Amino acid sequence: MIKTNLKDFTLSELEKIISDMGEQRFRAKQIFKWLYDGAESYEEMTNIPKRLIEKLDEKYSVNNLKIEQKFVSRIDETRRYLLQLDDGNFVESVLMKYHHGYTICVSSQVGCAMGCAFCASTVGGRVRSLTAGEIIGQVMTVQKDLGQRISNIVMMGMGEPLDNFDNVMRFLENVNNPLGLNIGHRHITLSTCGLVDKIYELAHRKMQITLSISLHAPNDEKRSAIMPVNKKYNIEKLLKACRYYIEQTGRRISFEYTLIRGVNDNEAEARELLKLIKGMLCHVNLIPVNEVKESGFSASDRNAVEKFRAVLENGGISATVRREMGADISAACGQLRANRNAQ
Ligand code: SAH
Repeated sequence: MIKTNLKDFTLSELEKIISDMGEQRFRAKQIFKWLYDGAESYEEMTNIPKRLIEKLDEKYSVNNLKIEQKFVSRIDETRRYLLQLDDGNFVESVLMKYHHGYTICVSSQVGCAMGCAFCASTVGGRVRSLTAGEIIGQVMTVQKDLGQRISNIVMMGMGEPLDNFDNVMRFLENVNNPLGLNIGHRHITLSTCGLVDKIYELAHRKMQITLSISLHAPNDEKRSAIMPVNKKYNIEKLLKACRYYIEQTGRRISFEYTLIRGVNDNEAEARELLKLIKGMLCHVNLIPVNEVKESGFSASDRNAVEKFRAVLENGGISATVRREMGADISAACGQLRANRNAQ
């Protein structure tokens, strides 16, 4: 039997577990603190009574994830980690070094069910969603290996975070908790392909995270051709939800737009995109598509990228071209697949 990890719970859930065991609630706070101070065994929790530890140990584990493989880029120090979960599945996380500190890109699922035509993470479908502890375990495992604090988190690895809503919310709570990782929500970005009903739910929580929307096309015909999710939630519905999100949270959102040669990258398409989002509190990240062998897509050339960006900027929408990181170790956007045989 695989034990449930204590990091799967929020502090209030842990308090309930502890008081249901007939123990005092303050013990939960002490244990919670140990977990995020990096304890990976009960033995390290020196202020917790032995009888409580024995009870917990029957059902619950406290370990982080196992580093199966690590790849370090020679170009920019980006690291890609292949991490093993307790049930033997793998996920990938990417660590990036910026001038303001370290950012980790975490996965929210093993595989992905969304089926975007350009993305490697979806090739084998969705195997399962990660628990909150498995998501935060990525941060803790990589941080320990690095020996330095990670200050920013992007939920842009494998999987669709809003397709794993409850666990992602637990994760965000524990990341933010001062006794948890104590990372402010403004240092966290959640990226979604556009699960509209969940965007509304997220808006109601009024968190200060940055919401990033994978848009990738300026009209429904093109978007549906490369992103099946658009058949359920079209661009109009998606942008309505985005406007609502901005209104509720006061936060600027960002759009990700992958530039694919001959598919969505000409100037007319840039103007179409501009028309869609003009006047919104937003920023656009342009990403020349990264190579994924199954997709057969290739990246737009520099000239096309620059022209596309200029159309947006001249129309009053700030747009940047995302710098490719870890290109030599398949760590770039859309390249994560967590399969040991297909690196
Ligand atoms: N499922 C979420 C989280 C994944 S984030 C989402 O769709 O937003 C990963 C980002 O990289 C998304 O914007 C995704 O669309 C983009 N992406 C996927 N494959 C890519 C590729 N081959 N090249 C560039 N970006 C890609």
